[in-house]
Amino acid sequence: MATPPEVPIETLEKVVNDKRLWIYSKLLEKESLNPPTAAKEYVSGEGFYYLGRSYRLKLVDGVKRKPPLRFYQSRFELQREAQTQGREAFIRWYCDRLSSILDTQIAAVVSRLEASPRSVQVRDLGYRWGSCRHKGDLYFQWRVAMLPRTMIEYVVAHEWVHLIEPNHNHAFWIGSSKL
Ligand SMILES: [Zn+2]
Repeated sequence: MATPPEVPIETLEKVVNDKRLWIYSKLLEKESLNPPTAAKEYVSGEGFYYLGRSYRLKLVDGVKRKPPLRFYQSRFELQREAQTQGREAFIRWYCDRLSSILDTQIAAVVSRLEASPRSVQVRDLGYRWGSCRHKGDLYFQWRVAMLPRTMIEYVVAHEWVHLIEPNHNHAFWIGSSKL
């Protein structure tokens, strides 16, 4: 039996959110979100985004920690000796942080949509936030950790629906409305 479904309000919200995602993507391209790049200066006072807010970096002396970067009391602390590897330290930190955020997010999504990925990985995807590849492998851009939590939820939900429907067609949006 096929009944043409009414477009649920959640679906409309997803469409609006999709525009928002597009806007964020454009911001990212312009580096308005200040992703660490070769041009970024790893000096005290520099701001780095995490969960939609910018936090200042402080270089610290006389401590030996692994990894050399930590987020502590609302600021980033990087060991001065590791300053030249600042970019690598940040990317690693974002990857680790995003992995644990994704664990939580995914647990919530699994209960709502019956699909599970073969694997979930965090890596550099250029200007893409996430991607779902053929056999159910989900990839997320490490820069996703810079977004506000609501946007992270959306990025996760979006890729999750692709486990069922690879294209952005009607079935995709119906799948989204179940989330
Ligand atoms: Zn998509």
